[in-house]
Amino acid sequence: MEEIRIQTKKVDYIVIGGGSGGIASANRAAERGASVLLFEPNQIGGTCVNVGCVPKKVMWQAANLILDEKLAPDYGFSEPAMTLNFDQFVANRSAYIDRIHTSYFNGLDHNGVIHLKQAATFVDGHTVESNGERYTASHILIATGSRPNRPDIVGGNLGITSEDFFSLTKLPKRITVVGSGYIATEFAGLLHLLGSDVTILSRHQSLLPTFDQIISENITAQYRDSVSLLTGDEAVSVNKANGALEIKTQSGRTVETDQIIWAIGRTPYTASLNLEKTNVQVDEAGAITVDKYQKTTADGIYAVGDVVNLKNLTPAAIAAGRRLSERLFNQQTDSYLDYSQIPTVVFTHPEIGSVGLTEAEAVHQFGAKQVRVYESNFTPMRDALSESSQKSHFKLVCAGADERVVGLHGIGEGMSELLQGFSVAIRMGATKQDFDQTVAIHPTQAEEFVTMR
Ligand code: FAD
Ligand code: NDP
Repeated sequence: MEEIRIQTKKVDYIVIGGGSGGIASANRAAERGASVLLFEPNQIGGTCVNVGCVPKKVMWQAANLILDEKLAPDYGFSEPAMTLNFDQFVANRSAYIDRIHTSYFNGLDHNGVIHLKQAATFVDGHTVESNGERYTASHILIATGSRPNRPDIVGGNLGITSEDFFSLTKLPKRITVVGSGYIATEFAGLLHLLGSDVTILSRHQSLLPTFDQIISENITAQYRDSVSLLTGDEAVSVNKANGALEIKTQSGRTVETDQIIWAIGRTPYTASLNLEKTNVQVDEAGAITVDKYQKTTADGIYAVGDVVNLKNLTPAAIAAGRRLSERLFNQQTDSYLDYSQIPTVVFTHPEIGSVGLTEAEAVHQFGAKQVRVYESNFTPMRDALSESSQKSHFKLVCAGADERVVGLHGIGEGMSELLQGFSVAIRMGATKQDFDQTVAIHPTQAEEFVTMR
């Protein structure tokens, strides 16, 4: 029998997954002179660009326009009447995403990264296979992201996840979002403003339960005014009834709805990789185990982004991917991502921003006597002429005799934009006194953080 010999192509760096982490690491490696091969079988850009941050933020902005319209009469504008042409909106959003794809392809081409629109799978610890060809490299990066969970209940296959949400051609009249975290709160907020009747089914008593109390309490209270909020309850089954979906809950409720969005977390995605051919280990949640340098338990194999489940945010995946490439291909031997103090924003209505320790975490870490908290609760000037119930709530968590600011949390207009600058100050070790000595910018929301007493 004739022996089939597969020739193995060799490069310096193989990157599996063309999402936030993979693209960033591939580009940086190529900029540093490495020959790089990037495998991505789906749309370039991964979750963030195609079914995550980007289409979500565009919808959040559309919802903000509706919010402004609601406030306009209080400023004296005569009844404006905006109607959303959803087809037009979807077309414009897709065109924007296409432009991002083009700019990614241009970037990869410019840096000389070879992109193959194919999936890759391991053959051994230094070799991957794709479409019948084999490729080898001294360094291989896994950046395959995560996938949304569905509940393991009768009818858990009904309804949609965030992956399907951005393919909707029409917004459902009645929609139930199941979950308590980022996606449930973001989607519920924008869907309410865009005109759907929204129900949130949360198994926790409050939304965003892992955030500082000032955030979880106030987002829960504000959402109670706008959506139907069912807390401390869980779906046990779903069935189709009268052209709609019917959710039965643990407490005996029946919720009839036109659509369900499961927003109950995501699982690291490694199923297509054949990891058993390598020494790469995963933890009980399915995340790839890495050290602080993003090294897996297998020599020459690294992982970044959602697949390591450390901080599932685009900028964290990008930073980890770039730092890894600086270490591997630019002699920056101690380049790694410090996962503490990474700021995060939730694009709810109103916006939420958070960096550093919650009050509870600070008390746990430093002891209650060492922690001092400052708060400000106020009506943002945007809403001052109206009877809107929207309030802002800001908090600083300080620790030690010098009152170092170890946490900053806020819910209110402008929070998503103002957090970045404060994160720099906190990272540099700013104290409450540094905040106090900073002259305010008036009238803004941000000034509240430097005028707290
Ligand atoms: P991904 O971007 O998911 O990329 C992984 C890629 O790997 C995919 O394109 C996949 O096709 C590919 N792949 C899988 N298997 C293989 C294989 N065998 N071979 C080759 N390729 C493979 N983060 C923020 O910071 N801000 C936000 O506002 C925000 N909003 C979000 C909204 C939603 C609805 C969701 C779901 C997420 C949001 N996130 C946000 C999180 C953010 O999208 C992720 O943290 C980020 O995309 C993770 O990047 P990644 O590179 O790890 O994975
Ligand atoms: P989250 O982890 O934020 O929230 C999931 C929630 O669902 C948790 O409160 C969880 O509760 C609950 N849950 C889990 N299983 C069930 C179940 N069977 N029934 C009811 N509730 C359940 O995940 P998301 O899906 O909202 O988002 C995924 C990730 O994507 C986020 O963690 C974040 O990293 C990223 N993301 C970031 C955004 C941003 O930066 N603005 C926006 C959107 C997503 P419990 O804790 O009890 O398990």
